[in-house]
Amino acid sequence: MAASVVLQNVVKRYGAFDVIRGVDLVIQPGEFVVFVGPSGCGKSTLLRMIAGLEHITGGALVIDGERLNDVPAAKRGIAMVFQSYALYPHMTVYKNLAFGLETAGFKNAEVKERVEQAADILQIRPLLDRKPKQLSGGQRQRVAIGRAIVREPRIFLFDEPLSNLDAELRVQMRLEIANLHHGLGSTMIYVTHDQVEAMTMADKIVVLHAGLVEQVGTPLDLYNNPANRFVAGFIGSPKMNFLNATLRNPTGSAATINVADEAIHLSRPVGGSEGSPLTVGVRPEHLFAGVGGTRLADVRVELVEQLGGETLLYTTMADGQALTISLGGQQNIAPGCVIPVHLDPTRCHIFGEDGRAL
Ligand code: ADP
Ligand code: MG
Repeated sequence: MAASVVLQNVVKRYGAFDVIRGVDLVIQPGEFVVFVGPSGCGKSTLLRMIAGLEHITGGALVIDGERLNDVPAAKRGIAMVFQSYALYPHMTVYKNLAFGLETAGFKNAEVKERVEQAADILQIRPLLDRKPKQLSGGQRQRVAIGRAIVREPRIFLFDEPLSNLDAELRVQMRLEIANLHHGLGSTMIYVTHDQVEAMTMADKIVVLHAGLVEQVGTPLDLYNNPANRFVAGFIGSPKMNFLNATLRNPTGSAATINVADEAIHLSRPVGGSEGSPLTVGVRPEHLFAGVGGTRLADVRVELVEQLGGETLLYTTMADGQALTISLGGQQNIAPGCVIPVHLDPTRCHIFGEDGRAL
């Protein structure tokens, strides 16, 4: 029951405004793909075009080898779960789950079997006689997912389904949706603005920005090898630090970059010309306080966050550039201290002036 999805140069235009500016993408049968990006980048629009809820301005949507641009939503074999749940308030949970099947002409016995099966998967059987207003947010979201399951779609679409839940329930539902995917094996496309959801749930992440795909890859591909500064800054928490740097001896097999007053020897060449300006990116967890690696700078600690298992230092360098440092465990460091910061040069990401990784 798992389908492949191919997008070929898909465009969406509202008036003169291109919201989706040419997206190419291949999704394999059974993959869990997450579209992630900041609010307004076009995630919902792209999902709604796949669902058949928005007209596709240009390009092709191909599902299981068939062009579906002009096939109505109800005939695509796709079910969508919305952030708002969109349950019928006057119907019981059972009726909410059954309604779509009944209107599609399924026999009562088949409807009952599918509803009970979905209720078991989602552990909501005791709730079948309740109305939505008698349910918690998490239970309502389960019913909304159940309504998708009973249709036995070849593709599930989720549009920020967990945004209305509190933090603890979000973590729990994240696991449940991942389990649902393992159990059903269906193709699922999940939209979120939350990079943690993307990292924890996805087989494959698609990072969107201003209507374009910035990068496609596994969570660790994106973390380890971001293709550009946007992806580098979007994936990972706390965010990657970006510092001004200058390229030295680029022609050798190992380039050197100058950052603040230090020279950092990379173990690899960097394309570019002598003296050209660069940005070096270093994740907070790849900086350490004064032992090992290469010296980066002395920094002034402005703020300390003790998280128990981790200590975050918000610091500034002598030239005013900000640097966030994540240290393991609990550290006895107070605001106002000046500390030496070191790094592992193999963990440095180098970006050219156009933002692309070098
Ligand atoms: P996201 O889901 O990533 O937050 P959307 O896909 O909802 O973003 O919207 C992308 C862009 O398209 C936004 O700038 C939004 O204002 C615009 N947009 C969405 N729907 C319409 C519409 N019906 N008419 C005009 N512009 C729209
Ligand atoms: Mg949206």
